[in-house]
Amino acid sequence: MMSCREIVDFLLDYSSGEQDAPTRERFEQHIAVCPPCVTFMKTYEQSVKLGKAALGEPCEEIPPELVKAIIAARDKTS
Ligand SMILES: [Zn+2]
Repeated sequence: MMSCREIVDFLLDYSSGEQDAPTRERFEQHIAVCPPCVTFMKTYEQSVKLGKAALGEPCEEIPPELVKAIIAARDKTS
């Protein structure tokens, strides 16, 4: 099972398209059982869109407060 930390790393690499099929599969398995990561992923996608709209280019960094939020959310549910 992937950890939430690996999910964050996966999302950071997502735009580069470097994930192989087994990695994507593990990602989807984790997302299926970890609602905080689903929330995080949606927030991340939204921030990327906002970044593109505001700057005209992709926002490639996850704000540190988002990373903290996902870790905190995971700790609460476990
Ligand atoms: Zn998770």
